[in-house]
Amino acid sequence: MCYINFYIALLWLFLSQLEGKMLPLLLELGVQKTCRLNETGNCNDAINLEHLQQLQQYMQPDVDPCQDFHGYACGNWRALHGNEEHSAMSLSGRRINERYVQLFDRLARDKLAQQPLLPVYEKLLHYYETCKNSELHDKLKLQGYLEQLPEMAHLHWLELLALLGRYGYGEHFVRIAVSQHNTTQHNVVIVPHKTYTSLNLTEQLFEALQHYMIPTRLNLTTLRSEFGKLEADLALIVTQNTQQTDDETLSYYTVEQLVRGCGELNWQRAFSIQFGQALAPQHLLLVDELPAIKKLAQYLNHADPTLLRLYSLARFLHYLLQRPHNPLAKAHGANPYNCVRHMRKTLYLAMNYAYEQFYYAPQRAADERILHAVFAELKAQFALTLKANEMRIMPDILQAMLGKLEGVRLNVGNMPLNASLQFFAECVEHLHVGENFYENHLESLLHYFAHLSELEREGDREGLWYSFNHHGPDLLDNIDATPYFYCLGSIIIIPYAYLQLPFYDAQFWPALLYGDLANTLGHELLHSFDTYFVDYDEHGNMRDYSSNLLRNDRYVSNVNCLNDSSVPVLNERTSDISGTRLALATYMTDPEFRRANGKLYFLQFAQFFCGNDSDMYHDAGSKRLNYTLAQMPEFAEVFGCAAGTPMNPPQRCRFW
Ligand SMILES: [Zn+2]
Repeated sequence: MCYINFYIALLWLFLSQLEGKMLPLLLELGVQKTCRLNETGNCNDAINLEHLQQLQQYMQPDVDPCQDFHGYACGNWRALHGNEEHSAMSLSGRRINERYVQLFDRLARDKLAQQPLLPVYEKLLHYYETCKNSELHDKLKLQGYLEQLPEMAHLHWLELLALLGRYGYGEHFVRIAVSQHNTTQHNVVIVPHKTYTSLNLTEQLFEALQHYMIPTRLNLTTLRSEFGKLEADLALIVTQNTQQTDDETLSYYTVEQLVRGCGELNWQRAFSIQFGQALAPQHLLLVDELPAIKKLAQYLNHADPTLLRLYSLARFLHYLLQRPHNPLAKAHGANPYNCVRHMRKTLYLAMNYAYEQFYYAPQRAADERILHAVFAELKAQFALTLKANEMRIMPDILQAMLGKLEGVRLNVGNMPLNASLQFFAECVEHLHVGENFYENHLESLLHYFAHLSELEREGDREGLWYSFNHHGPDLLDNIDATPYFYCLGSIIIIPYAYLQLPFYDAQFWPALLYGDLANTLGHELLHSFDTYFVDYDEHGNMRDYSSNLLRNDRYVSNVNCLNDSSVPVLNERTSDISGTRLALATYMTDPEFRRANGKLYFLQFAQFFCGNDSDMYHDAGSKRLNYTLAQMPEFAEVFGCAAGTPMNPPQRCRFW
């Protein structure tokens, strides 16, 4: 390795070309400037120096890093970005959305730009335009969706559910859906009515139903009370006929067994409607609480069919309105930005394809080289940790953990690996894009869910569909902004939003590169070994390794050490601690090297947490950052924190 120390005068020369004042801190640094990308050391220093300047702007150097590192590294972040920005991740996601808007504007202006491209662009652009124009329609009302549905007055309640199930709906009575089971398989899953979801029949929903078909005897108040009675009856049936646990207790049934076990319903007719064909008698399904489903069927078969139909349609409309970034539910409606965000959910693969082609392709090769290299180092280091076996885990479980480690894969940009143009052409071949937003939204849902059922029936012959995570329209924004571990696929997905500043650049000096990337990948890799996902094997199958691990005193006491009543989700904290420890062990074992590079490394690590946002899974950024780094003796060493200061506590936890 080659260490190049900054000469102070030289540094001044570099930085004085940039605007802004130097903080004394960066003058102390003697960082390694060799690029991973180019081992001969020819980095683009300007990118690094500009980034340093950014880091400096966020800092509040009068805060003592040993008291509050977040305050020190990020104290100025809010002043620069204002309260409307949540985090560096949301900034990053916003940049991606802006690029899509620019892309569509360009395609619309210059039709020639589409020429050599696939029909995918024509379809995306057309969808985008009908979405933007939807605000021009006088009647931006929900009944627009109902007008798109086929005639349904004659349908049995299960047939109507199956029809709505084609659009991914399945929240009441009985849910029939396709979901991923492990790294190579999808299954049809059938579960009874969820008692914890109920409908709030708003005036908007009522108005939509009224345009469509409501008998005159039912006004809003009477219909609300009828729906309430129906929900109460269903809840009672479910609670009286299930095992009173929150977990789904799924068991395999053949279609034949299902038909025999619940002859009250014409299952094959429902499958034909929802999946486009009946299923073979020996086809395997996963079913939860069949006795409850049977009782529900008996009750519903004797209920008022009109009421059931109205209830189903009201819930379906509510479902559509609740899909993330439905412009109809947004204050500013169908503006370009909302339409792009909506399309990133409903046309996930096609939108990713467009981003890849127009923006990401030129940087992919360099990124892949670096990301896979850093990931391989992390895996090799963690294999050493496992083999050292400090927690004295049983040999067969240890072997299984090594197998899991071996099996975790990276997917950069969450695209199918090495897919041909033909693959993408076929993907959008059956996507119908019509003349209005309602039609297009419903068609996009049909297209996605028809694809899932095809995958369930026919599998993935070329191994492409299971090489990435084909997100559905419910994808949460925060999932698409940062890398995450997908346990059913045993994949760490690195979305485009992460592959840019301030998190990452292929030209970063090592302290900056590892400061975020190694920590982030370490965190995600260690999710595979956290208190929850440890139970899945490398093929995405649930194995319940933890029943063995929980008999190991060392394991239990290490977990308990990190568990206190203040942590929202334990397995986020365990991944924070063990992932950060792994990143340090991979990158900075040499004390000399730590002295030179440590401060910059930890400052870069802080960027992810600067916005200080918390959510249902994570502590606020300040708490996460300070808690995690206080667990690392290397941090106290680098910043010279005295024993007993908040960032150098007397006790630390050992988990992985
Ligand atoms: Zn996590």
